[in-house]
Amino acid sequence: MIRRALAALVAMLICVPALAEMPEWTYPLEPELLEDRGGFLVLTNKISLLSSDFEPRDLEVITARHISEINGQKLRREANEAVNRMFEAAEKDGFKLYLKSCYRAYSTQSYMYSNRLKNVGHDDGVVAYPGSSDHQTGLGMDILNYEWTKKSGMTPAFGQTQEARWMAEHCWEYGFVIRYEEDKQDITGIIYEPWHLRYVGLEAARYMTENHLCLEEFDEEWRGYVANWEAQGGNFEELLRLRSAPAPAQVLFTTDDGEEEISLLTGL
Ligand SMILES: [Zn+2]
Repeated sequence: MIRRALAALVAMLICVPALAEMPEWTYPLEPELLEDRGGFLVLTNKISLLSSDFEPRDLEVITARHISEINGQKLRREANEAVNRMFEAAEKDGFKLYLKSCYRAYSTQSYMYSNRLKNVGHDDGVVAYPGSSDHQTGLGMDILNYEWTKKSGMTPAFGQTQEARWMAEHCWEYGFVIRYEEDKQDITGIIYEPWHLRYVGLEAARYMTENHLCLEEFDEEWRGYVANWEAQGGNFEELLRLRSAPAPAQVLFTTDDGEEEISLLTGL
């Protein structure tokens, strides 16, 4: 009995009380997902610019069906795998999809932007400002049907095609969202682009789709939740640290009648 009381005392002394003292985490997504170690939630737009030296990790050459002009272009590994799975599923439903554009480096975007400026004379919004392109994340891509790969440009009319409708309905199942939705133009600052898909991972894609949030709204929502939660006494960094702490130590005790039992030194 004394040993058991001692064990309880040790447990009380070594545990960090901060977790129990923090307000309950009630956001529908786990804090680890929002911590985003994989970098899948990175937001880029005219306000939130990526730096010129930002280069996504684990880029690999695309393997899904694509137009020949983009042979050798790259996507981040998870996005590459996901787009393959999505294309296979689409084909089973009778739709052939084609990658039209994938990862674009800052320097490429910069070149395209200055070319557009030279040709048009002003920023007409067609080519994204360097650092603001979703393509620089290695997670954004343009996907069309065969008919549209033969056209010189893309317009919102692509959204009327069966392939675009299929993607709008099913892309979340593979971790994608339509990055620039028709009714979010005033938030994203970008026209409706039914061809531009963005990989965010399955959980985030499901949540964003169910709640009809664009990436800007989702980013603002969860950051707002964390700020509010911290204002009530939470500590996001500490929460993540505590949740990733190793499993409680197991200590072997011999009871008074000689039997061995394992006592867990639990936190909280
Ligand atoms: Zn695009």
